[in-house]
Amino acid sequence: DIAEVVKNDIAHHFHPFTDHKSFHAEGGPRVMTQADGIWIWDGNGHKLLDGMSGLWCVNVGYGRKELAEAAYKQMLDLPYYNTFFKTTTVPTTELAAKISSVMPERFKHIFFTNSGSESNDTIVRFVRHYWKLKGKPYRQHFIARTRGYHGSTMVAANLGGFQGMHEQVGTEFPGFHHIKQPHWFDLGGDKTPEEFGLEAAAELEKKILEVGPDNVAAFIGEPIQGAGGVLIPPSTYWPEVQKICRKYGILIISDEVICGFGRTGNWWGFETMGFEPDIVPMAKGLSSGYLPIGAVAFADHLIKDFFELGGEFYHGMTYAGHPVAAAVALKNIEIIERENLVGHTREIGPYFAEALASLRDHPIVGETRSVGLIGAIELSNDKARRGRFASPGRVGTMCRDNCFKNGLIMRACWDTMVLAPPLVITRKEIDELVRLARVALDATYDQVKS
Ligand code: PLP
Repeated sequence: DIAEVVKNDIAHHFHPFTDHKSFHAEGGPRVMTQADGIWIWDGNGHKLLDGMSGLWCVNVGYGRKELAEAAYKQMLDLPYYNTFFKTTTVPTTELAAKISSVMPERFKHIFFTNSGSESNDTIVRFVRHYWKLKGKPYRQHFIARTRGYHGSTMVAANLGGFQGMHEQVGTEFPGFHHIKQPHWFDLGGDKTPEEFGLEAAAELEKKILEVGPDNVAAFIGEPIQGAGGVLIPPSTYWPEVQKICRKYGILIISDEVICGFGRTGNWWGFETMGFEPDIVPMAKGLSSGYLPIGAVAFADHLIKDFFELGGEFYHGMTYAGHPVAAAVALKNIEIIERENLVGHTREIGPYFAEALASLRDHPIVGETRSVGLIGAIELSNDKARRGRFASPGRVGTMCRDNCFKNGLIMRACWDTMVLAPPLVITRKEIDELVRLARVALDATYDQVKS
């Protein structure tokens, strides 16, 4: 009985990223019960097109029996063992090799975690220890970006650039610095996107000089920033960032938790955006969200030094590289390969972009943008000037709620509506997504006008 679930939830469930006061006042949660392909149903039989792949993760779509079978079989064979102290399991090792096989040649070694947050924690611990082992210069500082999101653990929350998270954490980590996002819509002013991309990259050099080039260990960024509003950098940005990092010997971390596993039309976002990272955290699309698993790929030059210098990395989680999650991830990657979902995403990407662009005639749409199957619709009160509504997030939240009412899951990042549908989406389903989005935009416009 769904009403009973809602009652229980209100009584017992403390939710992440939720304002419980208003949430309970509105009647509690929508209970999701079933899903298939790009569609999800709630306990009241309401059908929704999941334009967000859950939380940017269900890349192969819902209802994949093969993934359930892979989990079932592995649970019967060996439900658990760890990879500490010189042991491994078959699927864990096979998965390491499989991930390596879909990456550039230099990424041969994979460290497993349970999530994207843990992957980024792992990287900070690794990189700081690495530079200490190497000796002088003793590089310990990280440069990241405002509006970046790298997870919710203490380290990841500080590495990310969400002010609200920094304030709540209350204990800022030393040695984390932030520069602006290359977000032309809000920050580009009169510059062309290309000029603005170079300006945003130049800020990195300025920050490096301020912190001291010998102190900076690494720069971290998502190739296309996701949770801050799908911020797609101008084409000039990443190549320039890479040039600056190389100039000062600073490692590049490409956070592929959202962009990895085909989302942008290549296996990795760094391939789409044109740069070569040294370290790659991943999660989400690694198992398409069917079970929790994360990983970090390290380039050979780091691994060679680290292994040669010797000693243990005092770091690891009980469930990291869990054999059941690994078996599911392995099957998930096999599906992505077999169905050529990366190629499909690259091929259908321009259609998705055009479909979104058809919304530009709407009175509150200031911009649409996308790469592969990740995109955004900027809500604006003044299209010509890229103006913003008062009280950031108010109109976005209205639009998100209107989407829900009409059968579409589209998330709001303040007043930026974001989309990342499962990679199996068809042209016909994209048409339906955009039709539903327009219905929600119309309803939102009516509310804003009144
Ligand atoms: N990095 C990026 C780019 C993300 O988008 C996220 C989650 O949304 C994370 C890291 C954190 O991953 P997780 O929620 O699995 O800890």
